[in-house]
Amino acid sequence: MIQISFPDGSVRSYEQGTTAFQIAESISPRLARECLAASVNGVTRDLNLPINEDAQVQLLKWDEPEAKHAFWHTSSHLLAAALQDLYPGIQFGIGPAIENGFYYDVDPGEDVVIKESDLQAIEAKMTSLLANKSKLQRREISKKEALEYFEQRGEHYKVELIQDLEDGTITTYTLGDFTDLCRGPHLTDTSPIKAVKLTSVAGAYWRGDEKRKQLTRIYGISFPKKSLLDEYLILLEEAKKRDHRKVGRELELFMFSQSVGQGLPIWLPRGTELRTRLEDFLKRIQKKFGYQQVITPHIGQKQLYVTSGHYAKYGQDSFQPIHTPEEGEEFLLKPMNCPHHCEIYRFQPRSYKDLPLRFAEFGTVYRYEQSGELHGLTRVRGFTQDDAHIFCRPDQLKDEFLKVVDIIFIIFKALDFQDFEAQISLRDPNNREKYIGSDENWEKAEQAIVEACAEKNLKAKIVTGEAAFYGPKLDFMVKDAIGRRWQLGTIQVDYNLPERFELEYIGSDNNKHRPVMIHRAPFGSMERFVAVLIEHTGGKFPLWLTPDQVVVLPISERFNDYAGEVADYLIRQDIRCLVDDRNEKIGRKIRDNELKRIPYMLIVGEKEAENAEVSIRKQGEGDTGSVKITTFAANFLEEVEKMLNVI
Ligand SMILES: [Zn+2]
Ligand SMILES: [Zn+2]
Repeated sequence: MIQISFPDGSVRSYEQGTTAFQIAESISPRLARECLAASVNGVTRDLNLPINEDAQVQLLKWDEPEAKHAFWHTSSHLLAAALQDLYPGIQFGIGPAIENGFYYDVDPGEDVVIKESDLQAIEAKMTSLLANKSKLQRREISKKEALEYFEQRGEHYKVELIQDLEDGTITTYTLGDFTDLCRGPHLTDTSPIKAVKLTSVAGAYWRGDEKRKQLTRIYGISFPKKSLLDEYLILLEEAKKRDHRKVGRELELFMFSQSVGQGLPIWLPRGTELRTRLEDFLKRIQKKFGYQQVITPHIGQKQLYVTSGHYAKYGQDSFQPIHTPEEGEEFLLKPMNCPHHCEIYRFQPRSYKDLPLRFAEFGTVYRYEQSGELHGLTRVRGFTQDDAHIFCRPDQLKDEFLKVVDIIFIIFKALDFQDFEAQISLRDPNNREKYIGSDENWEKAEQAIVEACAEKNLKAKIVTGEAAFYGPKLDFMVKDAIGRRWQLGTIQVDYNLPERFELEYIGSDNNKHRPVMIHRAPFGSMERFVAVLIEHTGGKFPLWLTPDQVVVLPISERFNDYAGEVADYLIRQDIRCLVDDRNEKIGRKIRDNELKRIPYMLIVGEKEAENAEVSIRKQGEGDTGSVKITTFAANFLEEVEKMLNVI
């Protein structure tokens, strides 16, 4: 017999070789129907694999990310099986589950093109295959067998993948007539899949290498209930409406120009104003938290980045060095601000009493991204980080972490991100030689992060083995208004750069010590943050931030003069205000200005002009009545003030 322990702490005995599915059945038939995969000692596995020793078992239903992953992974096999039927000779690359759904990269062969318009037929084929309720047959095979099998079928992409695998770790899964190289986990059969939707087609280089062949990537998603698919499609429609590229164009915030170059955002006047307000907001917070603003050049000598290690990381695959007329002189576009800030640290000898030092810069950096990877403001080749580097003593680390978490909380609050989560990335304790810095420092830093999160009541998932080689980190993810998750700010401890730049301070013991460095960027970058903010708010920015706060709408031309007076008055109060004095019906003006997402419309006519009043129409609330213009301005300023009071 083996002992199986469950997440609620209970323990049950089973015969050796019992499967997770049988365990589910022994608990309740309903659970057996609903569970899709199992976590056995922390590893997600197929439900029908025998369990041979005592284990911690968690039965995974649809709500669990790991179950969705197995579900979507199985669906990608289903997609491949359908494609194999419809496109004889098609070759398969990889077909993973992703955050929302799955994809498969395929090479349909010379002269064969798979277009969006073909997706419906592929979907129909998938649905017809579902009727077979096929089981997935798992096989463990040797590397030699695997190579022979896929070579004989001419699957050269799979053969290349197998060559990189170690013998003894290779499994295949067969679904109907389709056999795939895969390590799983999967559903045991396709019957839980009740709804399938293929969403788009894109190009993707084999193994992400633009020198290799471009394959066709087919994206899809699937669900255990038809109603879940319907909900998802509504969400997708909503997401389209909020697409930051579309809203950015409508609100005239930013643009791209083929002449300037791909992936290089250009901020239009209204976008620049919005971004400047965000920067000023953060600058004000940072000032309060003891940061000092600095400015450094956009380029630096190549040797600077050789010293920092960034050349080794970004050099080959990024923008190439800039040469000058001077023999041998080479500069790089800066990929990171940190080396420049290390030089600022070295400006003068530092004592333990000088620390912490906090240098902040809205620093623009350049990193080459393949053209296929570029996407609006979220994947670009030039972007401005809301960067800062804190140089502190090891004993100050926790306090500094707490302060950065405070800053991030302030930002989330002012920008109405109510739902966020954090992840703490620690080193892999079984692989310590991979990391730079002493054990003692690592333990201190990791403990500091964990304690700081606990003190701030921040629910953080701890992931071991995810730390960078140079230090542990804390990342923030926000959930937007329609439930999508976005990676934003990060706080990263670094033992490496202080070492490479030989940074020192004189301790109270009169000896030289190395400071610890913290990199932190609450927004991540201005570009990415504005993109997320647009997708979160649909362009309806918080009142303090939005480009135009108020528009005055005279109900006819007779009241244009009064509308102008109202606007002048508000502008003098520092309220961003427009007048819509077009010769249009008031209904039309209201509709047009709603599209511009202006929070307040002030409608003025005879009665308002006589009484120095405005009639208020507020975004999301509709008409809220008439008030004196002075009252409106006072209330408005108070509303903005309250929002910014979080600092
Ligand atoms: Zn698979
Ligand atoms: Zn940095």
